[in-house]
Amino acid sequence: MIFEEVHKKILNALEDQDLRNGSYIGTKFEIINRREAIKRHTYIEEWANETRKNKEYAIENIDDLILKFKENFEKNGGHFHYAKNGDEMKNIVLKIIGEGKTVVKSKSLVGEEIELRQFLESKGIRVYETDLGEFLVQLTNGKPAHMVTPAVNMTEGRAKSVLEKNLKVELSDVTSMVLAVRKFMREKFLNADVGMVGANALSAETGSIVFVTNEGNGALTSTIPKKLIVITSIEKIYPKLNDAIKASIVQTVYDGFKKTSYIHIINGPSREDIGPEELHIVIMDNNRKSARETFLKETLYCIKCGSCQLSCPVFQVIDGAWGDIYTAAIGIPWTAITGSKEKAKALSFFCLECGRCREVCPMKINIPELIRKIKSI
Ligand code: SF4
Ligand code: SF4
Repeated sequence: MIFEEVHKKILNALEDQDLRNGSYIGTKFEIINRREAIKRHTYIEEWANETRKNKEYAIENIDDLILKFKENFEKNGGHFHYAKNGDEMKNIVLKIIGEGKTVVKSKSLVGEEIELRQFLESKGIRVYETDLGEFLVQLTNGKPAHMVTPAVNMTEGRAKSVLEKNLKVELSDVTSMVLAVRKFMREKFLNADVGMVGANALSAETGSIVFVTNEGNGALTSTIPKKLIVITSIEKIYPKLNDAIKASIVQTVYDGFKKTSYIHIINGPSREDIGPEELHIVIMDNNRKSARETFLKETLYCIKCGSCQLSCPVFQVIDGAWGDIYTAAIGIPWTAITGSKEKAKALSFFCLECGRCREVCPMKINIPELIRKIKSI
């Protein structure tokens, strides 16, 4: 049954000309960005190789590193929480937020993985996605098409009509869209009770959190509300702060390093008048530890830069329609770990085994081989 569902979703996407145009233009533009960023940052391949080694070490020593992170994070004044799975994480986060509150949130794949926003909204919490692409995904009740650029498949025309309908304004071009969202969000930032961000990397040595945003929304989300929650997963841990920063920069460059990229480091709650007085981190496993014992282990070295998705010929045509919460290329092994193995298997049959994803992966993950093995789960 699942195979038929996956097949139908893909056929529907093929008939959606607007989505196909969006995918074609969006991926083409992002691939150029990525190629130029790698050319500009000549050191990045060496850093990527280092990051792969650090990941191998971290995944082997994950329990010790998380313990060390916890000790240092608590020493810095933060509250540490550990969730075995999505249900635990959702309940921990709900309890920290409290009833009837308003949350401003920056993009988080872990949040998407467990449909955290939808859960919180069902409990009466008002949640605003502050990343422009993710905000469009929220307004359309959709799912992110790509790991880093969630609305990569949305044409300008579609985005304009979604924003006009929801913000009740008339818009002319991209600048007017950005300004309208900025105006709408400013008020949300100023009145939110809680800020929520994801993490690109964690440093066990210092108990620090590193995260990158492309629009400056992360800075406002993490500094205006008095309470801040960081949601992340266990494979983001690195031994040292230097390793965590390097991994975040590798991820950002392989994602096209936009001029508006900001790298944030959080070392604890604010000690000044500005910034969050209360800082929480919730770190989730969700089958990652058990995946270490299987052929899926290599997936955990992924830094979620999204390069493999952009280079995938299937993604270039129908993008997010080939996948579940994680889409295309490495999204298939991620689905097998964090979601339904049956669904991952059904999705795996649409891989062409062309190997383009493997060629562009900074972590040199053999993605086609992982997908091939998923076919015989
Ligand atoms: S091998 Fe499969 S996942 Fe990788 S780029 Fe080709 S079609 Fe996409
Ligand atoms: S598998 Fe490689 S290319 Fe794909 S998102 Fe992960 S690190 Fe990036």
